[in-house]
Amino acid sequence: MARAYDLTRRILVTGGAGFVGSHLIDHLLSNGHEVLCVDNLFTGSKRNIAHLHNHPRLEFMRHDVCFPLYVEVDEIYNLACPASPIHYQHDPVQTTKTSVHGAINMLGLAKRLKVRILQASTSEVYGDPAVHPQTEDYWGNVNPIGLRSCYDEGKRCAETLFFDYHRQHGVEIKVARIFNTYGPRMHPSDGRVVSNFIVQALAGEPITIYGNGSQTRSFCFVDDLVHGLVALMESPAELVGPINLGNPVEFTIRELAEKVIALTNSRSPLIEMPLPADDPQQRKPDITLAKTRLGWEPAIPLAQGLPATIAYFQSLRAA
Ligand code: NAD
Ligand code: UDP
Ligand code: UDP
Repeated sequence: MARAYDLTRRILVTGGAGFVGSHLIDHLLSNGHEVLCVDNLFTGSKRNIAHLHNHPRLEFMRHDVCFPLYVEVDEIYNLACPASPIHYQHDPVQTTKTSVHGAINMLGLAKRLKVRILQASTSEVYGDPAVHPQTEDYWGNVNPIGLRSCYDEGKRCAETLFFDYHRQHGVEIKVARIFNTYGPRMHPSDGRVVSNFIVQALAGEPITIYGNGSQTRSFCFVDDLVHGLVALMESPAELVGPINLGNPVEFTIRELAEKVIALTNSRSPLIEMPLPADDPQQRKPDITLAKTRLGWEPAIPLAQGLPATIAYFQSLRAA
């Protein structure tokens, strides 16, 4: 169905007070849309949207997506879910409920309103991948009973629900598989590698490398990711995904630590700590699909995104 994209819409962003969600809201508001931010503030914070206080087109609702939500909107971005291992393993049952019950409720809402809905899925659906780089047709290598399973399997089940609501009820869906993303407004103590290393380097504390640091990740700056999410939402209806969104430039964790130390002029030593269970050894997106179907690819290299992120964490220390 053709849609009038020049028109401004009322857009629901679940998880909008989180790291990615708050940047997405900035972008949607700057494009003239109205935004309803729904968040239970489990890992997000009103601080992330404080600069939008009293914005005439932003409405905030404290609500847990595990419970039904009856609102009127034209489009839904479903981002609600803790994303860092420390947070999602804190209450694993709630993590699975958020992905599964949250998806059912948001899909029920999209079905009733006949509106398009985008799911923030994750590269974790590939688990510890046996295929490198990961393409969307790879089914993954996921432990169903491990410490990461609440997140990985919750997100996999959410994808299943999205595709079944699409096939069974004709809901217009978009599924983005997001790879490691970083930038300002990451939670300083959420344990993710970029925030950990920057916080440690700025404090002059040891940089904690888990394992020997030879595992790899590919880091996408948050502005690039937001552009990818919006491009996917606005793409033709038949493009449902799943589609990888991430930066394909791969670094070892040790290389990342060295870059952070150099950029912060830190004297922090590197120390090795035990590797967490089920920690994927390699991760890098194949973004051919996003490039060819969305005309999207990341524009901001680590050399540009890291200084912007470091500046954010410096401002937190100064506050
Ligand atoms: P985040 O923890 O900063 O944001 C998640 C937001 O969801 C928070 O504001 C939190 O309070 C909210 N939330 C959690 N449970 C909720 C519930 N039951 N009801 C309502 N709100 C709830 O994480 P993020 O990095 O901004 O991630 C956003 C989304 O993107 C998540 O779905 C995550 O799985 C996905 N994702 C992120 C990354 C990444 O690298 N940042 C990678 C892959 C996927
Ligand atoms: N739902 C919601 N808001 C709506 C419509 C539905 O939160 O506007 C919830 C509703 O509580 C239901 C879920 O979404 O549990 C799934 O809706 P669906 O219509 O698929 O299921 P049904 O109501 O038939 O069980
Ligand atoms: N990591 C690390 N030190 C830290 C935090 C993380 O070496 O202080 C490693 C972690 O073991 C993993 C990688 O960095 O191999 C990315 O971890 P993160 O939690 O950011 O994301 P994910 O594992 O979900 O990709």
